[in-house]
Amino acid sequence: MPSDPMTHSASTLIDTRGRPLRDLRVSVTDRCNFRCTYCMPKEVFGKDFQFLEREQLLSFGEIHRLVRIFRDHGVEKVRLTGGEPLVRRKLERLIEMLAYHEDLDLTLTTNGSLLRQKAADLKAAGLKRVTVSLDSLDNDTFTRMNDVDFPVSKVLEGIEEADRVGLRPVKINMVVKRGVNDDSVVEMARFFKGTGHIVRFIEFMDVGSTNGWQMEHVVPSRELVEKIRAEFPIEPVDANYRGEVAERWRYLDGSGEVGFISSVTQAFCKDCTRTRLSAEGQLFTCLFATRGTDLRALLRADASDEEISAAIAKVWSARADRYSEIRTAETAKLRKVEMSYIGG
Ligand code: SF4
Repeated sequence: MPSDPMTHSASTLIDTRGRPLRDLRVSVTDRCNFRCTYCMPKEVFGKDFQFLEREQLLSFGEIHRLVRIFRDHGVEKVRLTGGEPLVRRKLERLIEMLAYHEDLDLTLTTNGSLLRQKAADLKAAGLKRVTVSLDSLDNDTFTRMNDVDFPVSKVLEGIEEADRVGLRPVKINMVVKRGVNDDSVVEMARFFKGTGHIVRFIEFMDVGSTNGWQMEHVVPSRELVEKIRAEFPIEPVDANYRGEVAERWRYLDGSGEVGFISSVTQAFCKDCTRTRLSAEGQLFTCLFATRGTDLRALLRADASDEEISAAIAKVWSARADRYSEIRTAETAKLRKVEMSYIGG
């Protein structure tokens, strides 16, 4: 019998650096309808790329069972990711199952391409919030970043619809790449200032092994802070909770806030409480991991909840990840798991 959603008691897992397991990111598909150059470059993820077959994917029932077990280990937040999660059919069904756990912070990251059509159903199914990736307001620059011909206006309509149905606050993630979209950072801040939506500027990261990452393409967040501050006075504010990824800055005129996710220049591993599950049930303890632990094999070998729970506890308790603290030009070349496979 699933644990009672209202009176959930958990024995929190702690890793070797004293970090509790709080945040589970679940990739529901490795497929996407965009080809963002920093995540899923077209040259690699082309028409001949072998994506996961349906039977390789965890079923919604399997995902729900794992989430129940993770909750018993202290997970309070589940973020659904991909690839692009909204290309997985009937995703609302999974959200309904997970929303049974009313105190679970259930959110989703999307490229926004299908959000206008799906926002109301996602909300009705029990989703609490959404984060939308939007790397520019200019169509040409947007296309240079996502390598597909998709109008910015449709993503903006999706953001407005998400807000209208109550999936708020809507967070907007902008990956900043020098020489591509860094000159539109202030414009992005201005566009969403005073709307209640929160823009987060993300340093270009050496995720996976296919995005051609180079340090010179990274725009350090402190540079962006100065760019924005020159236009709109801002000041830093405290994190909402331990492990919050974005460093928060608020507009002094009270019109909202922006965030900076600075994995390259200001590592935040010491408070990292996140783990990631791939669409085929591989568990990863770091975005820059090189290998995972196969939970699907346990599920499909009829392992008991206790056995699966013990496997998760063993993985997290031994965790020592701190990739961003030890990143070098050499580590950047490691064969790391692709972000499109485990979600950002
Ligand atoms: S690099 Fe790994 S350990 Fe560090 S914050 Fe990112 S996911 Fe967490």
